[in-house]
Amino acid sequence: MRIPLSAPDVLEEEIQAIAEVLRTPHLSLGSKLTDFEHALAKYLGTEHAVAVSSGTAGLHLCMRSLGIGPGDEVIVPSFTFVAVANAACYESAVPVFVDVEPHTLNIDPGRIEAAITRRTKAIVVVHTFGCPAELSVILDLARQHHLLVIEDACEATGAEYEGHKAGAFGDAGVFAFYPNKQITTGEGGAVVTRDPKLAARMRSLRNQGRAETDDWFQHSELGYNYRLSEMNCALGITQLRRIDSILRRREQIARIYHRKLNLLGHIKLPPLELSRRKISWFVYVVRLAEHFSQAQRDWVVSEMQRRGIDCGRYFAPIHLQPAYRSCIGTRAQLPVTERESARCLALPFFNRLEEAQIDEVCASLSELLEKAPRIEASALRPASG
Ligand SMILES: *Cc1c(COP(=O)(O)O)cnc(C)c1O
Repeated sequence: MRIPLSAPDVLEEEIQAIAEVLRTPHLSLGSKLTDFEHALAKYLGTEHAVAVSSGTAGLHLCMRSLGIGPGDEVIVPSFTFVAVANAACYESAVPVFVDVEPHTLNIDPGRIEAAITRRTKAIVVVHTFGCPAELSVILDLARQHHLLVIEDACEATGAEYEGHKAGAFGDAGVFAFYPNKQITTGEGGAVVTRDPKLAARMRSLRNQGRAETDDWFQHSELGYNYRLSEMNCALGITQLRRIDSILRRREQIARIYHRKLNLLGHIKLPPLELSRRKISWFVYVVRLAEHFSQAQRDWVVSEMQRRGIDCGRYFAPIHLQPAYRSCIGTRAQLPVTERESARCLALPFFNRLEEAQIDEVCASLSELLEKAPRIEASALRPASG
């Protein structure tokens, strides 16, 4: 693709920082790990950060260390990345899908209560596309019903809700540093919490269930290898140091898109601002108007790709994924999720995207949106991938 959907932004000095680690004998569980964790905790305004090998590993450690187990129900959105529901399934818990609200595409707080049963243990609040969810309402509901709150802030590093960083509100918050996220460690993630016991449990679980005092072959419980190497941590430290300028750049790109697409018919743009919240821009997702079918959206995506402009279908709902077809407890009615996901279109979005490239993306999109309604249904190729 000439213009990719996303691209990592790694500076020469960051490559140097990784190379320096490789000249030491400490490639895992060294000082870069503790430095990265301290820097993360400080930036996020929380007590403890536990770095792990991916955001998915972080979600799984939350489930395990918060005691979510077989038959427990976990309330999750379906309009999100599949890892959110997978983490519950890893512990034989049941993901219970709740619809999203159309403005921010976050879980609809007004629909959560109806999904709570005697078996409900937790709510996973995802800050979709970097827009903080309505935390105060959700935290109140959780308190009333004695439920745990896991914040999935994997798309929202640096986002804020009422002046505090998203991810720091729940019993635990999860972050991810895959190359398409705001900051990257290659692969990687972190869990944050105020609870020192929970943090210690997660540190043990990520390292094969070894307790701090255990010798290397002493395992207190069933654990995993969810460690993050010193090279990944070195990159994370340098990326985190410049996160403010990264987030400013991403917001600037979102504003340029907004300005150029605002006059276009046929699409709805993502909110640029939300009351009491600061958005941390993860992706730029527009929604095609109601009269576009999913097949027409897919046609626009494939035509953009044919021109060398990569676009994405963020998100295909989890409850419609083949892997979830036989999943119990998932036959919910999710009309907003199904309607909106069929019209979502993610445009190229990364730090180094240039204005001339944005111009080209917008011009192509505008042209294809005019053409799409006139394409015969038989000419629309079924979605792939
Ligand atoms: C990226 C992401 C994750 C974690 O992804 P990994 O690839 O495992 O790091 C989890 N949840 C959401 C919503 C995400 O977008």
